[in-house]
Amino acid sequence: MPGKKKTAKPPLQTVPAHQTLECEDKMAKMEVKTSLLDDMIGVGDMVLLEPLNEESFINNLKKRFDHDEVYTYIGSVVISINPYRSLPIYTPEKVEEYRNRNFYELSPHIKRKRSKQIKPALEWKCIPSCERETRLCFALSDEAYRSLRDQDKDQCILITGESGAGKTEASKLVMSYVAAVCGKGAEVNQVKEQLLQSNPVLEAFGNAKTVRNDNSSRFGKYMDIEFDFKGDPLGGVISNYLLEKSRVVKQPRGERNFHIFYQILSGASDEFLCKLKLERDFSRYNYLGLDSARVNGVDDASNFRTVRNAMQIVGFMDHETQSVFEVVAAVLKLGNIEFKPESRANGLDESKIKDKNELKEICELTGIDQSVLERAFSFRTVEAKQEKVSTTLNVAQAYYARDALAKNLYSRLFSWLVTRINESIKAQTKVRKKVMGVLDIYGFEIFEDNSFEQFIINYCNEKLQQIFIELTLKEEQEEYIREGIEWTHIEYFNNAIICDLIENHQTGILAMLDEECLRPGTVTDDTFLEKLNQVCATHQHFESRMSKCSRFLNDTSLPHSCFRIQHYAGKVMYQVEGFVDKNNDLLYRDLSQAMWKANHSLIKALFPEGNPAKINLKRPPTAGSQFKASVATLMKNLQTKNPNYIRCIKPNDKKAAHNFNDALVCHQIRYLGLLENVRVRRAGYAFRQPYEACLERYKMLCKQTWPHWKGPARAGVEVLFNELGIPEEEFSFGRSKIFIRNPRTQQKKYQKTKS
Ligand code: ATP
Ligand code: MG
Repeated sequence: MPGKKKTAKPPLQTVPAHQTLECEDKMAKMEVKTSLLDDMIGVGDMVLLEPLNEESFINNLKKRFDHDEVYTYIGSVVISINPYRSLPIYTPEKVEEYRNRNFYELSPHIKRKRSKQIKPALEWKCIPSCERETRLCFALSDEAYRSLRDQDKDQCILITGESGAGKTEASKLVMSYVAAVCGKGAEVNQVKEQLLQSNPVLEAFGNAKTVRNDNSSRFGKYMDIEFDFKGDPLGGVISNYLLEKSRVVKQPRGERNFHIFYQILSGASDEFLCKLKLERDFSRYNYLGLDSARVNGVDDASNFRTVRNAMQIVGFMDHETQSVFEVVAAVLKLGNIEFKPESRANGLDESKIKDKNELKEICELTGIDQSVLERAFSFRTVEAKQEKVSTTLNVAQAYYARDALAKNLYSRLFSWLVTRINESIKAQTKVRKKVMGVLDIYGFEIFEDNSFEQFIINYCNEKLQQIFIELTLKEEQEEYIREGIEWTHIEYFNNAIICDLIENHQTGILAMLDEECLRPGTVTDDTFLEKLNQVCATHQHFESRMSKCSRFLNDTSLPHSCFRIQHYAGKVMYQVEGFVDKNNDLLYRDLSQAMWKANHSLIKALFPEGNPAKINLKRPPTAGSQFKASVATLMKNLQTKNPNYIRCIKPNDKKAAHNFNDALVCHQIRYLGLLENVRVRRAGYAFRQPYEACLERYKMLCKQTWPHWKGPARAGVEVLFNELGIPEEEFSFGRSKIFIRNPRTQQKKYQKTKS
């Protein structure tokens, strides 16, 4: 049974296979230097941290952070701390330097054998830690890329962490690194350029300033980068997950609408704005949050030029770009349509458009029939079997219809953009492809007011945490079982119970929300909450004051209109208002038909259900169930790939550089289960290597194995370990590999004996 760390051993991990004593000495000196540096700037791999506890873990991160070392390993998982400032470690020169260094540092043996047996991670460890950890993000990408290319294993890079922790930046680094190291030639370069340029386009339309992050992703993104057998990029496919469309019509205090609205008003020429019937002044538009219209350090005008340029590179035709901006302008202008009540003879309230000028301009811009749109804002037609019933809309309903139209136009435009980008970037070949998936999805969110969107986002993060738990443990366990090594279970919090609370198909919150949405009769957010209280009151991770049997009856911090979930990352209180409506995601048919009739090919294409010939009386799936299904597909997809993790950590809540808030970091470390992650790695074996590779690399340390060992590699390693006097409890012989518990202590001891 593997226990915890034990005594010290020889330098198995870092002593190079140099054949002369001189070389060996040089390397030993380098190792001494490295360990001194480790004391100063912290260890680059938490697996080697002594002693291991929460305090030392945080101290190590802090030490490293203070020295601009923002990346740290836990075995093969990379922890990344947001530096909130540009570090000079991502330049093309650095990529080159890293690659050259990698080769330069290698002994001829390893170079020769590299792609066959020796894992790049090991080569990487030949570089002094002070230099290597700065580029762990590259190292991880490099390892993933080489495994894909050389071992034909599809990879995925899962980037997780809370909002503002640096996921999107990390995902862009991964993409740039892969682009920099793979393939050459005009065609390949065009593919790479298009893949990279899809980022500014999607960020402009899908990101926004929030209180947590000035460039917060308000959609989930998964991108498969496809390669041919040589490892040259062929193209990519992007999947997007639920855009936070409510932001189009309303933003929380201190936040903005999606970037593109501000960019277009700031950066478009007067002529283009005139064409789009827009005015430059943000304050003209009701849909733009005014209290934070300008963001420090963000140049909307220049970003607009970047986006247009990116659209061109990705392959948007001029007329397509024009149509896209027409839709953006129409959405913005929709917010300025206002309604007033008008009493009718029958005593019913009817709404009327206050000033038709905005409506007229929208219709001129988009080819929508003005009278049809005006009618769609005044009436709602319900069709049931053979019957058609029209009811008038009151002012509140008219505003609801207007906002629903704006949200739908924008979110469908966003999905169309993704489809259009995919058309350009997807591989134009049917040959079998190798795939590297990069997942950058909205981070865990705890706001003052949390609504349906936060619920969905946090559900997604629960699922990602779940897959992290499953895959990191599963991978580790499977390797031990495969190799016949005994394994002891390490305790960790399994969030499956929270996933179940949300997604169980009978008693889960999403199922109950759907049931409520589909139920005939009066359905409100309160009836939904009542239902939740009946079913979930006793669940360990659910809290509410409504239920009679509730344990939280006297918890005044929990309003009656809210429920609270104890997520893996903390407690979040959800305001139930809007859940039913957002899950229903209804757009009155009159509006979809008005859009479908538009003399505007893009808008027409966005509303296929508006075609009267294709009336489908079946209710479309709810937003929640659509999301649940797409997350399930994503999880399945991820499970077929070899996972690589980047766990992003936010050092402070102020978006500030040089600021490391211990308590905040501690909270993230706890809920991400990082300490458990290290323990799992350490209870097992921190280092493993096939016998052949191990013998080849270290045989010069033993007279019997140097220069040629005649017998089986495993026997050679046994002789080698015996001669080096490594205690038995420090290693295990697997079927094809040697497993070493703690190579760094071996190395330190070896250095002592040598000196
Ligand atoms: P969200 O879930 O809200 O989308 P996120 O995890 O994707 O958040 P990012 O947008 O990647 O967060 O990062 C937030 C900001 O932090 C960036 O806009 C940038 O200013 C800064 N930042 C993140 N990573 C780095 C980095 N490696 N170097 C310098 N600055 C960074
Ligand atoms: Mg992001």
